[in-house]
Amino acid sequence: MFYEQHGGLNMIPERTYRVLPPERSESESLSRNGSRSIKILVYHRIVRGRGKENFCKFCLSEDEFRRHLEWLDRWGFTPITFEDYRIASEKQLELPHKPIILTFDDGYLDTYQVAFPLLKEFGMKAVIFVLGDRTIKNNVWDAHLNLLQSSLLEDSHILEMHEAGMEIGAHSMTHLKLTDVKEERAWEEISRARMLLEILLNAPVLSFSYPYGLVNETVKHMVASAGFTHACSVWTGPAVFGKDAYELRRIPILNSTTTSKLAVRVSSLFQYYSWMRWTAGKILRRKHPGYENELIAPLDSVESLYRSVNDYEKFES
Ligand SMILES: [Zn+2]
Repeated sequence: MFYEQHGGLNMIPERTYRVLPPERSESESLSRNGSRSIKILVYHRIVRGRGKENFCKFCLSEDEFRRHLEWLDRWGFTPITFEDYRIASEKQLELPHKPIILTFDDGYLDTYQVAFPLLKEFGMKAVIFVLGDRTIKNNVWDAHLNLLQSSLLEDSHILEMHEAGMEIGAHSMTHLKLTDVKEERAWEEISRARMLLEILLNAPVLSFSYPYGLVNETVKHMVASAGFTHACSVWTGPAVFGKDAYELRRIPILNSTTTSKLAVRVSSLFQYYSWMRWTAGKILRRKHPGYENELIAPLDSVESLYRSVNDYEKFES
């Protein structure tokens, strides 16, 4: 096996990300079949029954999730994986008429218990991003925020879902903010997660999801150098799918995302609207503080725009 030949489990792949820029725009050859408009949804928890979970921002009820799948089915969307997309970009697979990608972050136990049976019922695939550190049993990274503590998937669940055609991607080792830690630590979080998940699955792990959606150019280069082919942010990245394979914008699905909201969010117009607000926020933040001398707009309107962008990002996260 590759890893045994190269030093076993304790080996961290050599850091080479400085000389390996991410490959981009791989969707060029697919642009004619509509792949540029592929939308990616990000779910967290899918919860059953009535309890405090129903009030958690990142929890969607089982009934609402079923309505989402019914809606996608009725409107002719076919969920694909990043692996399907990669094979299609090599012209070995034809993408369906309306491809869409459903992703699940963090690897909660209810992804297996609640979402997986429904996905099977509808014959749909999804991409599930899990932590490389398989000793973490619940979302300890949220403990300081007083967020609900939830159990995570066991290895056997991951293997069963992978066997059933779900794509398993990496969500770092321990859910750190990769943009806030030293480069050596970030590299370990990224490269080791891929290595350990590949050993678990005995298959390639090619997609990555940035914890908290936080990403910068250095982190992107590391993800590319670690061998991933696609990486997902949340509310950042270009409006067009595949323009930056290492910063794929996703549509966050929250507790409040009904099917009518879903319908709005999967439209290309909404994608461009989100992208414009993000870009405006970036420009305003760059000029803040001291922006009053640099922007022509009156101070109160700049402030209100700055606030609304911030509120939007908080809401979207
Ligand atoms: Zn996460």
